[in-house]
Amino acid sequence: MSKQLKQRNTQRGSPEHEQEQDAPLLNLPRDAQGEVIATSNSKTDHQAGKTWGRARDVSIVDIAIPAVIMATCPFLVIYFWHACDAFQCDLAAPLAPLLAADSLTPRTIAKWIIGCFPTATKEGVILFTGWLLFQAALYAFLPGPVGYGQMTPAGFVLPYIVNGMSAWVVTHILYFGASLGFDIFPATIVHDNWGGLLIAANVYGYFLSVFAFVKAHFFPSHPADRKFSSSIIYDLFWGIEFNPRIGKLFDFKLFHNGRPGIVAWTLINGSFAVAQYQKIGYVTNSMWLLMVLHAMYVVDFFWNEDWYLRTIDICHDHFGFYLGWGDSVWLPFMYTLQSHYLVRNPVDLSTPYFLFVTGLGFFGYYIFRSVNNQKNLVRKTDGNCLIWGKPAKYIRTEFITSDGKKHTSLLLASGFWGVSRHFNYVGDLCISLAMCMTCGVTHLLPYFYIIYMFILLMGRIQRDDARCRGKYGKYWEEYGKLVPYKLLPYIY
Ligand code: NDP
Repeated sequence: MSKQLKQRNTQRGSPEHEQEQDAPLLNLPRDAQGEVIATSNSKTDHQAGKTWGRARDVSIVDIAIPAVIMATCPFLVIYFWHACDAFQCDLAAPLAPLLAADSLTPRTIAKWIIGCFPTATKEGVILFTGWLLFQAALYAFLPGPVGYGQMTPAGFVLPYIVNGMSAWVVTHILYFGASLGFDIFPATIVHDNWGGLLIAANVYGYFLSVFAFVKAHFFPSHPADRKFSSSIIYDLFWGIEFNPRIGKLFDFKLFHNGRPGIVAWTLINGSFAVAQYQKIGYVTNSMWLLMVLHAMYVVDFFWNEDWYLRTIDICHDHFGFYLGWGDSVWLPFMYTLQSHYLVRNPVDLSTPYFLFVTGLGFFGYYIFRSVNNQKNLVRKTDGNCLIWGKPAKYIRTEFITSDGKKHTSLLLASGFWGVSRHFNYVGDLCISLAMCMTCGVTHLLPYFYIIYMFILLMGRIQRDDARCRGKYGKYWEEYGKLVPYKLLPYIY
């Protein structure tokens, strides 16, 4: 990493400022998750790469959970597809043959599992491959400003091309222009090939995870930022490389999360909305509302893509199955379940219900965006800003990277960040609930998203706490005393 890049970082919203002092020797206590609680600059620790970040010493439970997720989640996605495709999105119905069987032998279960799978199709493979290559070309060649990520544990500050907004616009204009405008292909092509696409995406998700694992061992982009545990399963799931790249700028994390994943979200909704129109002759108000709420979330993501570079996905997570398969399969197939549901079960919302759900969604978005903006603002201005009309209250922290250098950063302790440590998650949960509520209240399947988001965000609170304690040590303790609640005051 060139010195030049690090210096440019301070010019564009970077929170951290290098002081390049010699840091004092510190002990390396670990927390319950095995994360290092303090950083070190001793030669030995530096060589061992001991800094904050992903766990290294993992327990049997830490290994068992990823093993179970990798073995079951792909089937869970297939199960949901099967429930929608064959049973009008009734989640319990696919289990009927199993429950009716005289005896549950491994053979019966295996037969039932195979029966749930969609058929692999040539069209699915071609569409998925074309989609991936098209998004890769947009990511690589569309112009856009350069944003900078957070300083990594090894002291790198990486540049990213922030061209997601133009990729989103170009993709949607081309897709809906070519299908609805020029009739080159049906706008329902995604809906029509959903099963084949699911198989192709799964194959790619597994391939990508294994590729990331092999790349990390044999041709890593930034060797000093790799984290190895004693378990292949753990490393495969959570990833080893922090920022795998092809060349200097093709970043696996930003690309896979943003492009095949998040760009696809609104495109899939559009395709399913057209399918609903073809089925019943109009698009229901529930589908319109769902599309607005999802589009708001997606456009916000790209509008603020530079901000995303400073979120946990980019700043903490390594690239393995969790992000690789998750972005390729889980995100496009599970986050869009409501639009699948609404094609099979069109819902016309009453006006009061419609207004309530709209209000909840917009309220959630307001919270989500305001909280995230406050953090961005305080770090961009180095604390010289007003939060809720008053000078920002913050803790100036120190942390040390594995090259032994000392840096400073800010932890905001007023505004929303003084209410709780993750009030942005409250906003996100409100939007997520509104998205699910567009489907009415008769089925469980559309509510999968809010259940999942709740589990995901609760897990992130724990992981982030361990990470920040490792990075900031006593400063994090100080922040914790000032802001004791993690999510909601007086509740959690
Ligand atoms: P945050 O944006 O809250 O980022 C947490 C990081 O911010 C910490 O690791 C720390 O990093 C820094 N930080 C913590 N406390 C403070 C503080 N008081 N002042 C300043 N900086 C602080 O979390 P996420 O990355 O999880 O989430 C980002 C957004 O994305 C959220 O709104 C979330 O709801 C949403 N999200 C959506 C998901 C989805 O699938 N739809 C999934 C996950 C998140 P450091 O100090 O190192 O900079």
